[in-house]
Amino acid sequence: MSYVDEIYTRVVEQNPGEPEFHQAVKEVLDSLRLVIDANEEIYRNAALLERLVEPERIISFRIPWVDDAGKVQVNKGYRVQFNSAIGPYKGGLRLHPSVNQSILKFLGFEQVFKNSLTGLPIGGGKGGSNFDPKGKSNREVMAFCQSFMTELSKYIGADQDVPAGDIGVGGREIGYLYGQYKRMTGLYEGVLTGKGLTYGGSLARTQATGYGLVYILDEMLKHNGKELAGKTVVISGSGNVAIYATEKAQQLGAKVVALSDSNGYIYDKDGIKLDIVKQIKEVRRGRIKEYVKEVPTAVYTEGKGIWTVPCDIALPCATQNELNLEDAKSLKSNGCFAVAEGANMPSTREATDFFLENGMLFMPGKAANAGGVATSALEMSQNSQRLSWTFEEVDAKLKDIMVNIYAKTADAAKRYGVEGNYVAGANIAGFEKVAEAMMAQGVV
Ligand code: NDP
Repeated sequence: MSYVDEIYTRVVEQNPGEPEFHQAVKEVLDSLRLVIDANEEIYRNAALLERLVEPERIISFRIPWVDDAGKVQVNKGYRVQFNSAIGPYKGGLRLHPSVNQSILKFLGFEQVFKNSLTGLPIGGGKGGSNFDPKGKSNREVMAFCQSFMTELSKYIGADQDVPAGDIGVGGREIGYLYGQYKRMTGLYEGVLTGKGLTYGGSLARTQATGYGLVYILDEMLKHNGKELAGKTVVISGSGNVAIYATEKAQQLGAKVVALSDSNGYIYDKDGIKLDIVKQIKEVRRGRIKEYVKEVPTAVYTEGKGIWTVPCDIALPCATQNELNLEDAKSLKSNGCFAVAEGANMPSTREATDFFLENGMLFMPGKAANAGGVATSALEMSQNSQRLSWTFEEVDAKLKDIMVNIYAKTADAAKRYGVEGNYVAGANIAGFEKVAEAMMAQGVV
């Protein structure tokens, strides 16, 4: 049995009941086969893969808090400190009822390679709780965050582990978590990213994931003899990533004709008016269908179906598994030639295979949405320096990082004989740096 297959079998046996983690390990290891086969003896002797698939540490704890009715509630809390070979653990905190150890291990494992690709010194981690902030009062969210951080503060630090936001953790939650960390430790340090601008946050962090997505898309197009200007683009979602991907695509001369939310999608043949979308989503927190009230020439369609809108380029920016094989076929038959993922794992495995087998340009989320975590790392740098950079400085650094991620991804694919396969390229490039650092640091 090959080393890769041996390790995958071992992961399934030793981590029962963790299907998401098994799936992530399989997807990554499958695309690393070429590299691992080429270095099998060295890696086997160092048990490199055995160490790579085992988190350095998982901290799991109870989070007791009191609700508005005076009742004591108890949630589960976790921090998965997956790999610190190239820097302090870095990765978001997710607050959602679906959170469990398997999901956090899958996200933490993926994060190791994404963070490595940014070229910045950040290891991989992920954490969270099965607490659901939806429908809770501000006081309840604060009580929960304070209890969560009371325990978590023992295990994190600016040079040790730097969590950020993720689903259910936005500016409000980061603020409450930061306040409690400071209170528990007496330290005013960059222990969390995504902070408010008045207490250590970075300019351009809000825009970073969407802007970064379009920077790497632009780079991929240029290297394949195409350009973004004048192209028709469809973007799913209308949250943080979708809004700022739309903004940057429009600045670079593309026409974005569709956006969605979990209820349906809008089509505006004249190009989306982003100021209206921002009013609806960022100010009023409304639904995307409200757009057609203000732009009567636009059309709203209830339900899924955004991928049936003809376009040159598709940017899935909503959620996992939102684009399946049927959607991929529909995009292709309507003339779409490039897809870049703003969301985490929005395309199913079958859709990804279809893009690759049909000669479409496809940039996976691990590379394409890394601008968010990269800018979080820039926030860490500013905190260490006790300085704030201008928007333009951060944006220029973000652009450089995305251009470099493209170069590393394309180069790794080419070196291993799969030119143009950016899925393999991103996994290989991310793995190489982590593997080299782990080998250099001995058996730890
Ligand atoms: P938001 O919560 O701001 O927006 C998510 C958008 O997707 C909303 O418009 C939401 O609609 C829509 N959506 C959610 N579920 C579905 C669904 N089942 N079908 C259709 N639309 C849906 O999240 P972000 O923009 O921050 O994140 C989007 C994706 O990008 C996620 O996968 C996230 O993990 C990933 N990501 C985000 C980063 C960041 O910096 N923000 C960094 C890297 C990755 P509704 O309002 O109806 O729920």
